[in-house]
Amino acid sequence: MPVDVLAIAAHPDDVELTCGGTLARLKRLGHAFGIVDLTRGEMGTRGTPEIRAAEARRAAEILGAEFRETLDLGDGGLRRGREEELAVIEIIRRHRPRIVFTPFPDDRHPDHRRAGQLVTDACYYAGTRRIETKHPAHRPQQTIYFSTFFSHPPQFLVDVTEFIDLRRAAMRAFESQFHKEGSTEPPTVLAQKSFLDMIEARAREYGAMINVEFAEGVIG
Ligand SMILES: [Zn+2]
Repeated sequence: MPVDVLAIAAHPDDVELTCGGTLARLKRLGHAFGIVDLTRGEMGTRGTPEIRAAEARRAAEILGAEFRETLDLGDGGLRRGREEELAVIEIIRRHRPRIVFTPFPDDRHPDHRRAGQLVTDACYYAGTRRIETKHPAHRPQQTIYFSTFFSHPPQFLVDVTEFIDLRRAAMRAFESQFHKEGSTEPPTVLAQKSFLDMIEARAREYGAMINVEFAEGVIG
């Protein structure tokens, strides 16, 4: 079953933190989407890959994803050689999305940067017939970018006011990663309450630009 949109990012939770509201909105409009995490998040200070996998499944259900797949391209050193490129090409061809969402390939976190580059290149090569994988060639119409750590000026804004509770719930599904009252896991930047406040403040700032409460910013 092809999907309209495929969101491909480096770590489980990257998608929820950047474009969860947009995906929920697309789903409401009748567009099917899937999520692909390029790594298992095994370098995270908190949680384990197994815990993160369960959390990621739950978050995908909350947003209404058709599926969530996880590759193992190396958290904290994401590989983007030909083998990895072919793996992403195959995923794009298998799901035949019209639009692919991915991190903007300029970010403080090298995994995010590499993910954006890898996915951008794979989207193009996926349409090249002479590059053979199991499924036939398919080139998405558009690759669209979301800011992660670095904030880039968005080129258009998506009103996600109606979906902000869903987005919050999807983020909270990553219990091991983010702030939770009474948690005994080691402290991290992401687990401070201020981190989720910052993520929400960004949505408020983007919202103010289009006179709504919350928005997500997109670079096309
Ligand atoms: Zn990340």
